Amino acid sequence: MSYQDKYEMVCGVETHVELATKTKIFCGCTTEFGGEQNTHVCPVCLGLPGVLPVLNREVVNLAIKAGLALNCEIAEFTKFDRKNYYYPDLPKNYQTSQYDLPICKKGWVEIEVIGKSKKGGITRAHMEEDAGKLVHSGDSITASDSSGVDYNRTGVPLLEIVSEPDMRSVDEVIAYLQELVQILDYAGVSDCRMEQGSVRFDVNVSLRPLGSKDFGTRTEIKNLNSFTAVRRCLEYETERQAAVLDKGEKVIQETRTWDENQGVTLSLRTKEEAHDYRYFPEPDLVPLKIDRDWVERIRATLPELPAAKRERLKGLGLSAYEAGIITSNKAMAGYFDQVMQKYPEAKVVANWIMGDLSALLNAGNQSFEDCPVKPYQLADMLLMIDKGEISGKIAKTVLEEIYSSGKDPAAIVKEKGLVQIKDEGALEKIISEVLANNPKSVADYRGGKEKALGFLVGQVMKATQGKANPELVNKILKEKLK
Ligand code: ADP
Ligand code: MG
Ligand code: ZN
Repeated sequence: MSYQDKYEMVCGVETHVELATKTKIFCGCTTEFGGEQNTHVCPVCLGLPGVLPVLNREVVNLAIKAGLALNCEIAEFTKFDRKNYYYPDLPKNYQTSQYDLPICKKGWVEIEVIGKSKKGGITRAHMEEDAGKLVHSGDSITASDSSGVDYNRTGVPLLEIVSEPDMRSVDEVIAYLQELVQILDYAGVSDCRMEQGSVRFDVNVSLRPLGSKDFGTRTEIKNLNSFTAVRRCLEYETERQAAVLDKGEKVIQETRTWDENQGVTLSLRTKEEAHDYRYFPEPDLVPLKIDRDWVERIRATLPELPAAKRERLKGLGLSAYEAGIITSNKAMAGYFDQVMQKYPEAKVVANWIMGDLSALLNAGNQSFEDCPVKPYQLADMLLMIDKGEISGKIAKTVLEEIYSSGKDPAAIVKEKGLVQIKDEGALEKIISEVLANNPKSVADYRGGKEKALGFLVGQVMKATQGKANPELVNKILKEKLK
């Protein structure tokens, strides 16, 4: 039995994404990932007495850009607030965040699950600073005898994007998150390196009896950093809550953590409320007035976003599936557009990119960002197929060769003698030999077994190392077999 037989899940996600600035939100320290512990720090981000924050304008630019990409309203007036709590990774004992007047609100992203689409609402998005990182001497907090703290990440700008509780299945949650991350990546507001923790999710989930209108009590699972973790965690947590409800007990509203190794969620603490944080306006920063010219200037810098790109690719003749795959990766989508400039046959380009080229990149552990085959080289190779200079089969070899040597396709074809054989005289000679060597197939074909022709074509291709022009081979074979 699964929870879905009796209950419906309701889920809303808070997504924290690192904004792609060079320096931190309130000081000039670098935001670069890694580095020797506590080297990307200064008195401001360490919260030493007497220092004052200065807001990084680029943080606001990127927050506006993200808001526009997510169909949000951009506030005309916005301010920072202090969220007070104590933890060793937070040197100031408060996080500078935004409370009642966030920079963005009321947006949405399209959620598509198996061809069905709906809007996933975004309640708000606000700017805040990241905290530091505890470093335990052992493998985990329980196995270590001491812990240190690395403040390199303290003060890195974040945008927290809070969704409406609109998701009703694990698939919808994943679809929402993938679309959200893709939009942020395309818009260039974050580098979205999930493996470096630049995107993190807090997942809120509750169950309610099927048909019920009211929401149930939710739990919040903090700090998930991959789609797989979100999926596994939700699959576990929904079943856990269902078991609690089935026993006639109540779900406790609490904050939980996902234990990747055990594959379970564990209780961390009962849920904190806003009043626990004693929010108050940040006295060291002036509020911001965002005039509409500023917003329009940022809007003008928005690139084509994934949904628009998918529609455009469908308009070029790609299926929804193909358009989805190509746009799922920003670099791949850019690569596609570049090849199309020189060779505008969408289907053919998509096939080569999704098929042979992706396979080569996977095998070589590379990505479209650093693809050794330049877009013009793939386009040139496709033109050579069209002109009959190489066959589609030989092209696969040519592509491998471009991939490993970086040479242009024309040079490779010439060097390796891969030019297609279109000389009828030469082909006739080879074909006569093939027929003489395969009397049984010849007899089969003449006796009505059409399939034998395919075998004979194969033998000719083999004899020419795939270089024979297939149409010519077919034509000559048929003539000779009459
Ligand atoms: P908090 O600030 O305490 O985390 P919010 O009201 O801002 O609480 O909600 C946080 C997230 O929880 C939002 O994404 C929201 O959509 C989601 N949420 C709220 N209520 C429920 C519920 N009953 N079940 C599932 N998700 C919920
Ligand atoms: Mg929360
Ligand atoms: Zn600093």
